[in-house]
Amino acid sequence: MTAEGGDAGRTAGRTAGRTADAENPPVRRLSAWDADGLVALAEEYGTPLYVMDRDRVRQNCARLREAFPDAEVRYAVKAHTGRAVLEAVRESGLAAECASAGEVERALAAGYEGAEIQYTAVNPPARDLDHVVDRWRDHPELTVTVGAADTVDRLRERGFDGRLCIRANPGVGAGHHEKVRTGANAKFGVPYDEVADLAESVAGEFELVGLHAHAGSGISGEDLSNHRELVERMGNLAREVESRVGPLEFVDVGGGFGVPYREEEPPLDLESVADATREALGDVSGTLAVEPGRYVVADAGVLLARVNTVKQAADATVVGVDAGMTTLLRPAMYDAYHEIRNISSDDNDEAISATVAGPICESADVLCENRSLANPRRGAYLAVGNAGAYGYEMASTYNSRPRPAEVALDGGKARLVRRRETLTDLTELEQ
Ligand SMILES: *Cc1c(COP(=O)(O)O)cnc(C)c1O
Repeated sequence: MTAEGGDAGRTAGRTAGRTADAENPPVRRLSAWDADGLVALAEEYGTPLYVMDRDRVRQNCARLREAFPDAEVRYAVKAHTGRAVLEAVRESGLAAECASAGEVERALAAGYEGAEIQYTAVNPPARDLDHVVDRWRDHPELTVTVGAADTVDRLRERGFDGRLCIRANPGVGAGHHEKVRTGANAKFGVPYDEVADLAESVAGEFELVGLHAHAGSGISGEDLSNHRELVERMGNLAREVESRVGPLEFVDVGGGFGVPYREEEPPLDLESVADATREALGDVSGTLAVEPGRYVVADAGVLLARVNTVKQAADATVVGVDAGMTTLLRPAMYDAYHEIRNISSDDNDEAISATVAGPICESADVLCENRSLANPRRGAYLAVGNAGAYGYEMASTYNSRPRPAEVALDGGKARLVRRRETLTDLTELEQ
């Protein structure tokens, strides 16, 4: 992955970005999806069903590359590791940021080269390090990012002396929920004040290529000051490290670019984020790197569910559907808001106040509460928006619910890319 260099690349990118706006809007709302097309998919493949539009994934990648023409853009694959998505992202020119041996494996299987893969070890199990070091022998350009001096020792024990990056704990967190802020959480990264010493001590033995930090997820317009502060701190750190050990290849300031989950929320102004990032980083030898996950896939995916049971309660109509917290965990885990639309409704259906609940025996198993929805009747299909990021990835089989199927769209044409799990699959591992 080479970064397009300098001001010329940047200007060209800007111009292209502006002219492409009409075909590549900054956000794709749930209301923009074709309801009849989604109903047809639900009928053909059954529900719950994830639908991933690979064309939208490509558009999101293109907008990122236009906003950051002189940076390396790395897709944080944990947002959606499906093969069809990874291939589309790779073909769109984004590198891969992997958080586990499994993600490294999936990136390689999707055609990524070692040079395009960064493995960021978070408290890595021995099995993960064994595996990644093993893969590194065949792919010596792979980069390993460590978040503790201890992990350096564990890599050394395994004979690793390749491309190393140090993750700093910048002491600045950002994000839409406490559970997604990582920047000031001691679990992540080497304490800021110890990074330069560690860098100096490992530089002779490993190929020290970069510094890394990640503030958290869901950076919005309001949270940009946190992002700016993190980048500034990383710029200062990079200058310190570069003065002591020589030029770095990159300074990776993480991901966390937010998407508007609510219909009325404005999209993130990517150009402003890019400008603020470059300005805050200041003068460093290393190339800027960013690691968006959610931004690449969130609005490329919807979840389709079917209404099973409608029940009139005192203060709301409880609409029971066949998707729940095991299909899409975000509402239960983060109190996350997802737009929901009745795609079976015609214009005559009046809006009611609905609580959409899943089939799991947990009170947290609701997709929304007291939401205005066009009257959903039994058998109607609902679409849940912005489900492409951390949707299928966080699905589980709790309550012995098989995980959903997934289709990918290319030019509007659907193909099944992940079959629905079966009841037999659920017991497959038992001996
Ligand atoms: C999760 C993660 C990201 C991506 O976060 P998004 O909010 O999906 O953009 C980037 N870098 C690291 C290290 C992460 O853990």
